[in-house]
Amino acid sequence: MTQGHPSDRNAATPPAKPGDEATPGAPGTGENVCRACEGRGTVEAGTCPECQGTGIVTSGIGGG
Ligand SMILES: [Zn+2]
Repeated sequence: MTQGHPSDRNAATPPAKPGDEATPGAPGTGENVCRACEGRGTVEAGTCPECQGTGIVTSGIGGG
């Protein structure tokens, strides 16, 4: 039998993006539309650097 270990160990924790205001998955945070590209994922220069083309950034959900 052949043993194989796919390299997807970090799939559960996506890397933080420059536009993220909070750590993804942290309590009290949520996904919001990127203000830099308005959720389109692209800007005039190309891929939005803030959300890295996802159109979504993670920020705190104000509880106060
Ligand atoms: Zn963006």
